[in-house]
Amino acid sequence: MDTEVSVIGLGALGSALAGAFLSAGHSTTVWNRTRAKALPLVARGAVEAASPEAAVGAGPLVVVCLPTYDVAREVLSPCAAGLVGRTLVNLTSGSPAHARDAAGRARELGVRYLDGAALAAPSWVGRPDSLQLYGGPRPVFEAHRGVLAALGDPVYLGDDPALPAVHDIALLGLLWSALTGWLHGVALTGADGPGGGVSATAYTAVVGRWMPTVGRLMGEYARQVDAGAYPAGGFPLDQHLMLMGLLEHAGELRGVESGLPQAFLGLAGRAVEDGHGADGYARLIEYVRGRAGR
Ligand code: NDP
Repeated sequence: MDTEVSVIGLGALGSALAGAFLSAGHSTTVWNRTRAKALPLVARGAVEAASPEAAVGAGPLVVVCLPTYDVAREVLSPCAAGLVGRTLVNLTSGSPAHARDAAGRARELGVRYLDGAALAAPSWVGRPDSLQLYGGPRPVFEAHRGVLAALGDPVYLGDDPALPAVHDIALLGLLWSALTGWLHGVALTGADGPGGGVSATAYTAVVGRWMPTVGRLMGEYARQVDAGAYPAGGFPLDQHLMLMGLLEHAGELRGVESGLPQAFLGLAGRAVEDGHGADGYARLIEYVRGRAGR
């Protein structure tokens, strides 16, 4: 057995990872506790290892994708000697503390280690816009970037192995915020909206035209947050607050229950009460961080 990459854990995501390596032409070894999950991959050319130790010994790069770090540790502990001198990429979800702990153990053993986060449902893996985040020593990432690119868009965040976990949860928060905001808009523009309402699809076509503006605002506000100065640029918090009141009213008329306008009004209302009504929207970071008034 001598393959380019081994995948340990063939659940929904691990199977997709192994499938993407195969699709990209990388020779791949797979191992799963329940052997039946390896069979479709073997039919596509994967080599099935008889044990995690055999999977680790099959090549230079080992990708592990198991439900938790505890399970990953349990599965990999008999493989410690075999991992020495190889690269372990851990795409199991966990906390920053889990990632640092796993990286520390790998360092002690002499295992090259990257922690990672896959920001993709299994069916998206392998698409060029499917993001995977990595943290750990840059030379280790660079050595394997080419193979990891089979999974999508490999993004290197820095030396700290905790960075993917930190970004992962922040990005999931952004996803839920954006999707809930979008659902709120679907509810506002639907059935009894103006003109008899529009379909979610019609509303979403306009959303697509609006998103680049939202992205530009984030870029501008990010610079303000980093600088700690929040010029309004013609759109002060006073005006945001007035428009948020309209959003709340529109929701009340249609019985919309997302809770979003109330959340927005709570943050912006406190900032305006504190005398920041002439500042820009990015001033709200102080309230979101919970440091304001301390
Ligand atoms: P699944 O529940 O689909 O699969 C779990 C896998 O772990 C199975 O292969 C299972 O083996 C194996 N497993 C569970 N317990 C043990 C054990 N004690 N010993 C050995 N193997 C074990 O999980 P996913 O593939 O969905 O998720 C894996 C990781 O990827 C998780 O951390 C998840 O958060 C993360 N992730 C998942 C995404 C998704 O959309 N699915 C997206 C992004 C991240 P068996 O077949 O024998 O039960």
